[in-house]
Amino acid sequence: MPVFDVQQFRQQFSFFQHNPGWVYLDNAATMHKPDAVVSATSQFYQQHNSNVHRGAHQLSQQATRLFEQARTTVCRYINAKSSEEVIFTSGATAALNQIAFGLMHTVLGAGERVLLTQLEHHANIVPWQLHCQRYGVIIDVVPLTADNQLDMTAYQQLLERKPKVVSFSHISNVLGHIQPIDAMLALAKKAGAITVVDGAQGVVYKQPDMQQLDCDFYVFSGHKLYGPTGIGILYGKKDWLEKLTPIFAGGEMIEQVSFVNTTFNKLPFKLEAGTPNIAGALGLAAAIDWLQLYNTEQLIQHKLLLLKEFYNGLSVIKGIDILSLPVHNAGIVALNVSNEHPADVAELLNQQNIAVRSGQHCAMPLFSYLARPGAVRCSFAAYNSLDDVNRCLLALEQAVEILT
Ligand code: PLP
Repeated sequence: MPVFDVQQFRQQFSFFQHNPGWVYLDNAATMHKPDAVVSATSQFYQQHNSNVHRGAHQLSQQATRLFEQARTTVCRYINAKSSEEVIFTSGATAALNQIAFGLMHTVLGAGERVLLTQLEHHANIVPWQLHCQRYGVIIDVVPLTADNQLDMTAYQQLLERKPKVVSFSHISNVLGHIQPIDAMLALAKKAGAITVVDGAQGVVYKQPDMQQLDCDFYVFSGHKLYGPTGIGILYGKKDWLEKLTPIFAGGEMIEQVSFVNTTFNKLPFKLEAGTPNIAGALGLAAAIDWLQLYNTEQLIQHKLLLLKEFYNGLSVIKGIDILSLPVHNAGIVALNVSNEHPADVAELLNQQNIAVRSGQHCAMPLFSYLARPGAVRCSFAAYNSLDDVNRCLLALEQAVEILT
């Protein structure tokens, strides 16, 4: 197998040619898009723009074909059983809201339980909370162990309460820890729960296989998989998607409408009200096609190399408080400089053209638990180089000197 050539990989992102001095380590927030994705979206507007599923004319039919081909590409990539199980949404947040809202109306009843974990993103907390409060559903939370991993013993104990739904992230967007999702799903299923996986960070780490994972729902956003913003996927097993009440209603999702009653369209359209993000869907499919030109294992190994170098470098800088574990880590490191505010550290890095995120990373309950005001998050992608790692380490060293 040829060695992974990071420079060749990186050259496919015009962003870096336009921003040559920058070290971009904010990949967990959003990733850059290869030119193949940018071209696919602009090509749609330049050559094929029309609405889908509603025009009698050939242009609309062509746009519909492209849109449905994009769905097939996603379906194959995640190994769903059929394209009906692949719903286009605006992102992971919209997909999680659809699941929480949809189940609340049909499946969950007062006194029943939803099990989440301490390190969830707000998108996998607040949608449940909104509806749980209203419908009398109880939320339980899996705590962490002393080294910030999920407490699997507590998880098993909480499953004894027979939650109706178990929903957790594949990879923590703050710590980067890869959760033992096979074991977690097996245990949840044994307890009879509906399983939801937030794959927002997981999908870019490793190609997810729906039939192998066998979860009931899996969600992700296109922009964290080298694709455009404003597009995401709600995967669900057909039977479960059928049970969801649509959160959005309007055109496309209906079969018959009168002022007395409405009957819904079949899947996947029932859950796709209104004009979809057609160019976004094509861009996401282009991202998947492009990504498949590469060997996933090589991309993972490259990120692991960056991570190893980063941890090695951090170990010799005094006063760094690292929250993330180096093992089972997908390439995200949360850290602090002594007791300094993370925003101050991130600003010093920014002054050296190093882009990281600081704050609570949409995971306030996690930071309350960790008793920290937030963290600086350095998140790596396959287009980052060892030079990026070294520049970040140097800037952190200088930040320590300046602040402490
Ligand atoms: N879940 C996780 C774990 C995330 O990291 C994010 C985004 O950072 C989301 C959900 C929400 O994704 P989006 O904002 O693209 O809808």
